Amino acid sequence: MRQSQLFTKTRRDAPSDEVSKNAQLLIRAGFVHKEMAGVYDYLPLGHRTLQKIIQIIREEMNALGAQELSLTALQDAAAWTKTGRFDDEVIDVWFKTALKNDTVLGLAPTHEEPLTNVMRDHINSYKDLPCSAYQFQTKFRNELRAKSGIMRGREFLMKDLYSFSKDAEEHDTFYAAAKEAYKKVFIRLGIGDKTYFTYASGGSFSKYSHEFQTVCDAGEDLIYIDEATGVAVNEEVYNDAEVFVASGLDKEALVQVKAAEVGNIFTLGEKFSEALELTYMNAEGKPQNVFMGSYGIGPGRVMGVLVELLSDEKGMVWPESVAPFAYHLVSAGNDEAVTEYADALYADLIQAGKETLYDDRDARAGEKFADSDLMGMPWRVVVGKNTLATGELELVNRATGEVEKVTREALLAR
Ligand code: ATP
Ligand code: MG
Repeated sequence: MRQSQLFTKTRRDAPSDEVSKNAQLLIRAGFVHKEMAGVYDYLPLGHRTLQKIIQIIREEMNALGAQELSLTALQDAAAWTKTGRFDDEVIDVWFKTALKNDTVLGLAPTHEEPLTNVMRDHINSYKDLPCSAYQFQTKFRNELRAKSGIMRGREFLMKDLYSFSKDAEEHDTFYAAAKEAYKKVFIRLGIGDKTYFTYASGGSFSKYSHEFQTVCDAGEDLIYIDEATGVAVNEEVYNDAEVFVASGLDKEALVQVKAAEVGNIFTLGEKFSEALELTYMNAEGKPQNVFMGSYGIGPGRVMGVLVELLSDEKGMVWPESVAPFAYHLVSAGNDEAVTEYADALYADLIQAGKETLYDDRDARAGEKFADSDLMGMPWRVVVGKNTLATGELELVNRATGEVEKVTREALLAR
């Protein structure tokens, strides 16, 4: 991508009403646009990063054997009435709307009900189980406070996966595999070492649900971590003695930290299958309720957490796994020979399959470097007058600031 063609611009200041660091930096760098509190558009650079986060999650969900689908945001009240969840007191974040004839519809805050309904058409016998399905889909939640930037949207993307098993035992096997898949996701996203498997207040079946909490000052949760095992306890269950039996943690050894919930996994049991009559015929020909689980990750929240954790005073610092582009090629100065050299190098980088943003703008080198620091691509390649003389490029590591001199051949061979 040539930066002269990129329609987004960087800006010195974020909107004055934006209090979160992640949104301030993302807006200043032109990655997102603020529509209103808790509602953000993803512009080309932000979109690329979000898509990379999504792709990592998708690969691990596919490896788990789950099948991708896509459900609607508009919801018929019927299924939700059967589970008691259309009630605003039961789900207090509903956005609702109405048809011209006044029939009330919901904008889905989650998707247990509609997917359970879908599965009723497809699950008949024990031979159809276990199975699991997931989506990357827009959720609507009328969150009371939306002050955490893209970490808490009123409209946001969720990866939500649902599992359907014959019984608790079959469910437990899937649940354990999902837990491992989540660990792999967070390692690949660069936050594996800061993300804790956390005991939290219950699903509808098991006493505890499990959250994946990333230690982060901008997070809204308080958790108690055990660094040695990577396991933690959420404040909401910390005073429950049983949680230490269940987790095997020593209460005295835990350290309190602020954290952001990036994912969670729930055992739902038969709550939804019972209410919505999702049954299967067992081997003896008797109808049984399907045993369910649900598993969420917020790709936007993860992106916000990455900004919060990795940024410095100059701007954002993207890990290579999710950076919009791995390389930021910058031509320093308006010398025609420099431009020619950089143009040719850009063509070579593309040819070599390297994702490159090329700052070919007619601007001062200092301005380009400041923008490059703000946008946070992992590697900056600088072509200057020196390059023409020595054949050497400057390769700057955004995270460490280290500068390496490399030849064009060495760069292309990396
Ligand atoms: P929280 O307690 O932070 O509100 P939650 O318990 O409501 O989260 P879930 O309903 O389990 O979250 O949603 C699954 C995942 O979706 C969460 O782990 C989080 O990563 C993400 N998520 C939840 N709410 C939001 C939001 N408002 N904006 C962005 N991501 C969200
Ligand atoms: Mg919530």
